[in-house]
Amino acid sequence: MREIPVGLLGLGNVGSGVVKLLGENADAIAARIGARLAVRAIGVQTADKPRLVDPGGVPITTDLEAIVDDPAIRVVVELIGGEEPARALVLRAFERGKHVVTANKLLLARHGDELFAAAERAGSMLFYEASVCGGVPVLRMLREGLASDRITQVMGIVNGTSNFILTKMAEEGRAFDDVLAEAQREGYAESDPTLDVGGGDAAHKLAILTALSFRTRVKLEDVHTEGITHVTPTDFRYAERFGCAIKLLAVAADDGEGICAYVGPAMVPKRWMLAGVGGVYNAVYVSSYALGQSMYYGRGAGMMPTAVAVLSDLIEVGREVLLPAERGGRALHFDTRKFRSIAELKSRFYLRFSVEDRPGVLATLATGLAEHGISIAELVQEAPAGAAGPVTIVMTTHEAREGDVRRALARLDGAPVVREPTRVFRMMGGVP
Ligand code: NAP
Repeated sequence: MREIPVGLLGLGNVGSGVVKLLGENADAIAARIGARLAVRAIGVQTADKPRLVDPGGVPITTDLEAIVDDPAIRVVVELIGGEEPARALVLRAFERGKHVVTANKLLLARHGDELFAAAERAGSMLFYEASVCGGVPVLRMLREGLASDRITQVMGIVNGTSNFILTKMAEEGRAFDDVLAEAQREGYAESDPTLDVGGGDAAHKLAILTALSFRTRVKLEDVHTEGITHVTPTDFRYAERFGCAIKLLAVAADDGEGICAYVGPAMVPKRWMLAGVGGVYNAVYVSSYALGQSMYYGRGAGMMPTAVAVLSDLIEVGREVLLPAERGGRALHFDTRKFRSIAELKSRFYLRFSVEDRPGVLATLATGLAEHGISIAELVQEAPAGAAGPVTIVMTTHEAREGDVRRALARLDGAPVVREPTRVFRMMGGVP
């Protein structure tokens, strides 16, 4: 049987999963392609480190450029992560006429345009299924399964670390910092969790989902990004009261006038399937013209789930290597669509005020909102915390423009009766 020589850059979590799965399922994979995927060389940073898998005689080197330059290698699998040297190596692989499979969402979100252009110039393929939702084949579904449909909205829970933290906070009533520390001890969160809990990782994934859903180029600046660090147990108590879960949502919607893309914590009605996506699981919920609503759910990270996605790309590229005549019709062409500012988003909102316990405060808040055309749907007031303590007033709004809400709060937060910056979350769904 023919062999397709593969160069593997990275033998960490995902790279090890790829070697393991490729070894265990070699015959079945070969049968699907009509050729054997043969890893010929593995590139790492530290050559003599203990490894999670036995590479079975495949040479391990720290000279990654030599792997990319090797004329025998047809496909380069980039699993080192980060911006550089990953970007330079992928570009170099295209210059050498090779196909590339990557799991690197940061690289695609920041340099996608440059990489896709280089791939097209070289007549090469660039596949990246593992970059969003790990093993869940959501990109292939957007690219192929829904190719004939018109997507109007894509909404997902795409960062396992944040979802793990929010799920624990909801179930155990604990504070963010406390749960984050536990997640770090147990290996669910990185020692520097900024990209995960700050929403950056979800924004990278949303940029990729948006590009494929709406066939458009996306700049990261087009994705409004908020994280979960300011979510408190108090917000979970109110979420419960309103029949909601709090989730870090990544949403992109096309209303015909433009695309609005954002990542941020949101109140999600418990009756929604997305509200039940717990722990490190990921899910993407798609609304499209012909299919209607569909949801894609599963493990968003981990050695073996992610390896499944990398291998699905390798199988597709493997077939391409054997059938070069099909090339050309496979490249996706992206337009440059208009993106709308988050200020134009229409949503319901949850507002949690911390105010002085004085007569007239409620009127100040209601007037401040009304002046910006924001109408209140529900209002809950808690007893003051101690004699001089602040009073918590929570309001949910009817649908309003986000820009109006932010302007109203900027003014109200400057009022002498408001004790601390008002918490704002978007509320999904209609008025219950
Ligand atoms: P990892 O465990 O940290 O492994 C990275 C590998 O790349 C290691 O083998 C490392 O070498 C090598 N490497 C890193 N920098 C290098 C450099 N400058 N030169 C040469 N080799 C270098 O990472 P991972 O979790 O497998 O993630 C790999 C990619 O998959 C990332 O883009 C990540 O975002 C993506 N991804 C990961 C998951 C997941 O569940 N882990 C899920 C989806 C996507 P040493 O082993 O010698 O240190």
